Amino acid sequence: MDNLYSLTAGELLSLLDKKSVKPEEIIESVYSRAQSVDKKIKGYIHLDKEKALSQAKGLPASGRLRGIPVAIKDNICVEGELTTCASKILRGFKPPYNATIIEKLKSEGAVIFGKTNMDEFAFGSSCENSSYFPTLNPWDTARIPGGSSGGSAAVVSADEAIMAIGSDTGGSIRQPASLCGVVGMKPTYGRVSRYGLIAFASSLDQIGPLTKNVHDAALLLGVIAGFDSKDSTSVNVPVPDYLSYLKNDVKGMKIGIPKEYFVAGMDKEVEAAVKEAIALLKGKGAQIVEVTLPHTEYAVAVYYIIATAEASSNLARFDGVQYGYRCEDPANLLDMYERTREEGFGAEAKRRIILGTYVLSSGYYDAYYLKAQKVRTLIKNDFEQVFKSGCDCILTPTSPTPAFKVGERSSDPLSMYLSDIFTISVNLAGVPALSIPCGYTKGGLPVGMQLIGDFFKEEELFRAAYTYECGTDWHKRSPEL
Ligand code: GLN
Repeated sequence: MDNLYSLTAGELLSLLDKKSVKPEEIIESVYSRAQSVDKKIKGYIHLDKEKALSQAKGLPASGRLRGIPVAIKDNICVEGELTTCASKILRGFKPPYNATIIEKLKSEGAVIFGKTNMDEFAFGSSCENSSYFPTLNPWDTARIPGGSSGGSAAVVSADEAIMAIGSDTGGSIRQPASLCGVVGMKPTYGRVSRYGLIAFASSLDQIGPLTKNVHDAALLLGVIAGFDSKDSTSVNVPVPDYLSYLKNDVKGMKIGIPKEYFVAGMDKEVEAAVKEAIALLKGKGAQIVEVTLPHTEYAVAVYYIIATAEASSNLARFDGVQYGYRCEDPANLLDMYERTREEGFGAEAKRRIILGTYVLSSGYYDAYYLKAQKVRTLIKNDFEQVFKSGCDCILTPTSPTPAFKVGERSSDPLSMYLSDIFTISVNLAGVPALSIPCGYTKGGLPVGMQLIGDFFKEEELFRAAYTYECGTDWHKRSPEL
């Protein structure tokens, strides 16, 4: 079979079960696809065929992902493999240990397949903040793939990986999934271990799947979720069998539509696609109700205070002493710190460090950071109210626009920050959310919708998303490359 790269994990696993293919053939197929199309997309930073193939030899005899290549965002530690957060300051860094999710993937037979490009330290919504090169959108290479997990979304969309792992602090899995036409999920805060994820904003970061369909997202989350004593924010809640919730049935499900998410300025084609999706779910028996999340308007401001504060603190460790880059010929210790950070961080990382240091500084702490934490609680309460009122999930657009052009927002940080107005509140609240393709613009760009769930109720999102997917064929389209 010469088109193995175009199949889903579910399809490949059944071929593997029947012994119709070997893991080596899948790896060869996906690798040669990447060889032929990644010149255009630039989704990978590091990809080594021999390393991928060598893993096929020692696979466990059984395993939920046996033989499936999974691409990994470059901010997740893989032992002995370059892990750079797409930053110059981590050039050459090879972690001496695996992230917990890498151990889990390996124990289920997944093949760790290359590291994907991202905005430096996950700061961004377009992948243009990578210190290597921007990744491009497989549906239109004049456009961005979204970010910060733009590489992971693009390689799944372009069939250069069967599945991928991303991280989501303020939309970084869902927004690129939406812009590239794939499924992406941010699990509940605490659902997936963050041990070995290089921290951006520790109270917001979560690791999650990017896949070709809902089945594969449920499969991949089932593998990476679960309690981990190495992450103090990991929560000991049993992991359900997500695959058992993939039923084409939403009868009686109550879906809330927040009025604050259908705002002026939203792209008309996005709005139309999402409204059609709501009608489809209604037709399948879901009960659609209008709800309100009244503090939504503060989410972007609150996020950019909390996220930058935590980022400035997390990035203090990159000082040229222990990891990665160090400036040449420092005159003394202070010169070494200063020049290493000056030369090692890109413009957006410096902007975040400056903003974060400012909001935490004495005299401003109460006015900004403390105030933002209080408003964060109000945002969380909004979601709790909606779920208490009986809603099983909330449906919104994922991004207010389809993929924008390369360079269109890169010189205007505020317009870039506004790319995440629909995704950020979810991280502030800690609830799970998923993005699923729900149509295409006339120009052929994917549109995504977001389903938001109650804490640790990822299975409800999979059920609604799967039912929607059964009624459409968006997930079957592929970009022409
Ligand atoms: N785009 C948002 C930011 O720049 C979110 C990034 C993320 O989720 N890592 O912070």
